[in-house]
Amino acid sequence: HPNVQWLKETMLNVEKGIIVDKHLETNIKDVYAIGDCAQLSEPRPGRKNIEAIWYAGRMMGETAAYNICGKSVEYDPGIWFNSAKFLDIEYQVYGDVPGTLHDYLSTLYWEHPEGDKAIRINYHTDNNKVAGFNLMGIRFRHEVCEKWIRDGTSLQEVLENLNLANFDPEFYKTYETLIRKSFSEQSGISYQVKSKRILDRVTAFLTS
Ligand SMILES: Cc1cc2nc3c(=O)[nH]c(=O)nc-3n(C[C@H](O)[C@H](O)[C@H](O)COP(=O)(O)OP(=O)(O)OC[C@H]3O[C@@H](n4cnc5c(N)ncnc54)[C@H](O)[C@@H]3O)c2cc1C
Repeated sequence: HPNVQWLKETMLNVEKGIIVDKHLETNIKDVYAIGDCAQLSEPRPGRKNIEAIWYAGRMMGETAAYNICGKSVEYDPGIWFNSAKFLDIEYQVYGDVPGTLHDYLSTLYWEHPEGDKAIRINYHTDNNKVAGFNLMGIRFRHEVCEKWIRDGTSLQEVLENLNLANFDPEFYKTYETLIRKSFSEQSGISYQVKSKRILDRVTAFLTS
């Protein structure tokens, strides 16, 4: 929990963190709290009231700045994302990737035999729209995954265009054939990889 105990004797409304409204304003007018110490009084559905990651802090900073400068803006955490690097382990998560899979989600999972690379794609069981991505040791572009999730893109379309997301550095080994074989078997979707890893195509996709 954030270390906010020392504020308990002030007029600020404090629980686990400093309580803020949709504009990140505390119970004291013109006093804002952002980052790890801020506890949202009304988090968006499915989201926590404290999200202690630096991206959230950055977005909150922008929101607070707008409000302080007189433009009324509600905090929008957007589609969940996080990425980190612990020693040589690198991971990213975009969207809905819960620790325990709920019924409304189905999943595809590929892991390299050496166990140091993995891709998980979650999608809605009822309509096959992608819901979330989790990558270990392989890099997928945040913007591309976010657009797929936001647009409700079908699993098939995502699989065919998976290359648009990959941004492993040039000359990194790719595992397209293995991944395609594994995902085709799991999903029952027979597909061909359509797009190549060409930046122009990525930019065209993102601006489409
Ligand atoms: C080990 C670790 C790994 C993490 N890895 C990731 C990651 O991979 N990805 C990610 O997104 N996030 C990660 N986080 C979370 C991320 O670091 C925090 O979300 C982010 O730093 C929060 O920023 P902040 O400015 O709100 O708070 P902080 O960065 O904690 O800054 C608060 C500052 O206030 C100072 N302070 C505290 N009390 C007082 C006081 N009374 N008076 C004056 N100054 C005070 C503190 O010294 C500190 O400098 C990690 C955190 C930890 C601990």
